[in-house]
Amino acid sequence: MDKKTDRFTRTPMREQKPDVRKHNFDEVPCGYSEEEAVREATRCLQCKHAPCINGCPVHIKIPEFLKLIEEKKYSDAAQKIKEDNALPAVCGRVCPQEIQCELKCVLHGKGAPIAIGNLERFAADWQREHQQAPLERCAIKKNGKKVAIVGSGPSGLTVADELIRAGFEVTIFEALHVAGGVLMYGIPEFRLPKRIMQEEIHHLELLGVKIETNFVVGKTAELDDLFSDEYGFDAIYIGSGAGLPVFMGIPGENSVGVYSANEYLTRSNLMGAYKQNATTPISHGKHVVVVGGGNVAMDAARTALRLGAEHSVIIYRRSEVEMPARDEDVQHAKEEGVEFHCLCNPVAILSDAKGVVTGIRSSRMELGELDDSGRARPVAIKDSEFEIACDVVIIAIGNHPNPLIPQTAPDIDISSRGTIIVDETTGRTSKKYVYAGGDIVTGSATVILAMGAGKIAAKSMIEDLL
Ligand SMILES: Cc1cc2nc3c(=O)[nH]c(=O)nc-3n(C[C@H](O)[C@H](O)[C@H](O)COP(=O)(O)OP(=O)(O)OC[C@H]3O[C@@H](n4cnc5c(N)ncnc54)[C@H](O)[C@@H]3O)c2cc1C
Repeated sequence: MDKKTDRFTRTPMREQKPDVRKHNFDEVPCGYSEEEAVREATRCLQCKHAPCINGCPVHIKIPEFLKLIEEKKYSDAAQKIKEDNALPAVCGRVCPQEIQCELKCVLHGKGAPIAIGNLERFAADWQREHQQAPLERCAIKKNGKKVAIVGSGPSGLTVADELIRAGFEVTIFEALHVAGGVLMYGIPEFRLPKRIMQEEIHHLELLGVKIETNFVVGKTAELDDLFSDEYGFDAIYIGSGAGLPVFMGIPGENSVGVYSANEYLTRSNLMGAYKQNATTPISHGKHVVVVGGGNVAMDAARTALRLGAEHSVIIYRRSEVEMPARDEDVQHAKEEGVEFHCLCNPVAILSDAKGVVTGIRSSRMELGELDDSGRARPVAIKDSEFEIACDVVIIAIGNHPNPLIPQTAPDIDISSRGTIIVDETTGRTSKKYVYAGGDIVTGSATVILAMGAGKIAAKSMIEDLL
């Protein structure tokens, strides 16, 4: 380590300035230069017991890839990550490293932990920008088995990646007109540029993965049809996600100008609703209130600013400490001017004679006993109601599993929460040759957990079919 490198201080990543970025959809962090990446990687102590690896749900060989960056072998570093993670450019950007690998870093507490996510992103970006992705296609010997994947989110894409390399014929069926799941329709461009996902998907297609978009399993064809002679699949992986929005059930929720975060973000991300004369527009509210405290709420509130809102307000029923959103996203939202009303819970959405939103009424809350989730239960304070005037309300309080497959495939065991029940160690469902993973099994979770589940199921499919 050279003298300039301080073991305990993290190399900051350059970012667009808040007052500039809140008017555009370009990515906020700018990435590391080679010099910055080497400096940061050099801080790693290369611990023999490598606790960071246990903090990563897919067990990326973190010290090894950091060493390769330190030695300026950037492409080798990316390949090392790809041994365990097919989407490093995505995970480097959106994984909650601060509660996973970076939390376990031995430098944590003594100083700043190594910026593992930033370095993962650097290696993946460097390889993408400097090298043609290696095409192993010719080397892959086909094994004669056909697998269908329902859903093209991170879970389905991971299964596709694992199985195509193992010689399977792989087809992904995707309900939307664009593949990528939440990574395309949910997470906005300023956190995850769409071209990165498109390149990852294109790479899978070059390897031979077929993607059928606008194909809703359970409507276009039933799950069982995929086993018929017409389709001829030997096994099916269900990675259909949790995209069914939860609403609050309060008066006024049907007013004009109330959106679920999923609808709002999908219209902005996938359907160009930010453009003038878009065919699927959204109200570009001047005063927008977003209800919720997770990543989805932050994404919606920050999108509203970029769509021209003068005020973008978060209402969250617990305190900021309990907010499930990543710290970085809360920080970015605050810097951009999103206002936070914590310990508040909406009780009614107000509208005018035409049913158009004019405001939201909320109670102030205080924290009580711990609830089933281990968090303090918010309790309404008597006579504390207040109103905020607004013209758009976005509900971002969670999503349920997509119900279509559970409803149309009655021979698959489903939990009371509507999730598909699997053996966690294998991804097998109660139906032979049908596997599942990701949010449809866990409920709304994270990209890396969805990918981890895909890897487990792919391993079982290889065992069961070959
Ligand atoms: C706005 C937003 C922000 C988020 N931010 C983060 C973050 O910063 N970090 C993080 O780790 N996680 C984040 N998450 C959560 C993360 O994106 C999900 O946990 C992850 O995408 C789940 O992956 P999946 O493959 O299980 O499902 P999805 O990504 O939901 O993909 C499922 C796919 O299946 C398709 N589908 C559904 N039903 C059918 C059917 N019947 N037939 C065919 N196709 C079907 C859907 O259209 C979808 O494309 C965020 C989620 C949202 C909504």
